[in-house]
Amino acid sequence: MTEARRLLGSVFGFPDFRPGQEEIVTAVEAGRNVLAIMPTGGGKSLCYQLPALTRAGVTLVVSPLIALMRDQVRALRAAGVAAGALTSQSTPEETEETFAALDDGRLKLLYMAPERLAAGATAQLLRRIRPALLAVDEAHCVSQWGHDFRPDYLRIGELRRALGGIQTVALTATADEETRAEIVRRLFDDQAPASFLRGFDRPNLTLGFAPKDEPRRQILAFADARRGQSGIVYCASRARTETLATALGQAGHTALAYHAGLDPDSRRHAETRFQREDGLVVCATIAFGMGVDKPDIRYVAHADLPKSIESYYQEIGRAGRDGAPADTLTLYGPDDIRLRRTQIDESAAPMERKQADHARLNALLGLAEAHRCRRKTLLAYFGESYEPPCNNCDLCRQPPKLFDGTEAARKAFSAILRTGESFGVGHLVDILRGEATDKVKLRGHDRLPTFGVGRDRSKSEWQAIFRQLMGLDLVRPDPERHGALRLTEAARPVLRGEASLELRADSIARAAKAARSEP
Ligand code: ADP
Ligand code: ZN
Repeated sequence: MTEARRLLGSVFGFPDFRPGQEEIVTAVEAGRNVLAIMPTGGGKSLCYQLPALTRAGVTLVVSPLIALMRDQVRALRAAGVAAGALTSQSTPEETEETFAALDDGRLKLLYMAPERLAAGATAQLLRRIRPALLAVDEAHCVSQWGHDFRPDYLRIGELRRALGGIQTVALTATADEETRAEIVRRLFDDQAPASFLRGFDRPNLTLGFAPKDEPRRQILAFADARRGQSGIVYCASRARTETLATALGQAGHTALAYHAGLDPDSRRHAETRFQREDGLVVCATIAFGMGVDKPDIRYVAHADLPKSIESYYQEIGRAGRDGAPADTLTLYGPDDIRLRRTQIDESAAPMERKQADHARLNALLGLAEAHRCRRKTLLAYFGESYEPPCNNCDLCRQPPKLFDGTEAARKAFSAILRTGESFGVGHLVDILRGEATDKVKLRGHDRLPTFGVGRDRSKSEWQAIFRQLMGLDLVRPDPERHGALRLTEAARPVLRGEASLELRADSIARAAKAARSEP
């Protein structure tokens, strides 16, 4: 694992890079000048913060928005990183502290407002501290034609020269060609930097999710339809990689299992075979893929729910690198969700991180149970807008039927509120269904007005409704209280009758059907 990847987890608490970040960080680490264009919210800051941490010395960050700078400094400090800002709004104490940290070489990131660059003292300071890297945030501000033009940004080129052509990373969300050319001219003295301009969309990848009812049969059917092509089937456990590889083998596929429990030789052997042979299926845990660079992987399936949208994107992204069509399928079921929640709750991470992990899982469930174009939902998560339909996702090809779920949602919300936001899905469903279980009687919940108002739906239908409500982030399980559900702000308008709510009919019907076929 690279140092940057390790710090990504240990300092920032992110399990994975977002699209584009890793390539940019790698280029910066390799000492290149970089121009990175990424949508707002795409995660630009990390692209210079990580390299700042892996190198000696201080990284100078020029950023035009004081409020944003202060937020970043606060967040970095909270993560244990020595960062400081010199802005017109810094208090004398803050400035003092920043200088002190600079002087004993502790400071890793120094944020500076562009106005500061004009001061003679600044030039002197910078010549003395000799920054190891210069990051220019909102680099489009250097463009005189843009609406954000900052005259002080024109000094950055000068500053670079004064610092002996210091390595520079320029970042912006503005992608038009003129602005880009102007950045290269004014910031990089016309010496072309390594440029990263890539939308996150991978149009050749077909996106699909399916509720997991018979995973083995579903994965076999998916692979059978792509017989003779190279594919990866990601699994959550070692045991699952083995059973699926065996099942695929029996069905006439050439399949291998791959996981961290295998000895290094077998792993290397599997990687080499996959790389060289055509039509091999590897059933793997996430340990597989880092070192694999095979352009013609034609499909990626997830037999189990991935960890986050970031992981999902990275894993499906291994397919179709050659640009030719490639298919993806992700299975998800209530057991996956429960397992992931338990893993998060039982981890040693601090409370805040657990909450963030739950929110990330919710976002993934939201993608799984998206109502319309999955590509749009996926790209929106990374801050990129997209005009649907893509006609290359399951939801565009077969739009799910929606129904007015306002009343069902209100009943669910009411059960949550009347029990003090203190119970999990199982108990809430018992109340809605009017099941006088011991727990229900003990708590007196059989006397609630909500008791039995949901008799018209089966237990599994209600579970499916709660899943969607979680996916839509209207209700959230509280990890501190054993997954007790509470309402989010977004639920209030629905509760007050000011907003209506659509739910997917198919997943609820499917849940009902699955329950009926159980013995
Ligand atoms: P930008 O500057 O591109 O608008 P930021 O750097 O402010 O974006 O990041 C946007 C959000 O994405 C922040 O909340 C940040 O914590 C989050 N983020 C960045 N990188 C990752 C990652 N690898 N995994 C998860 N979240 C990330
Ligand atoms: Zn679509």
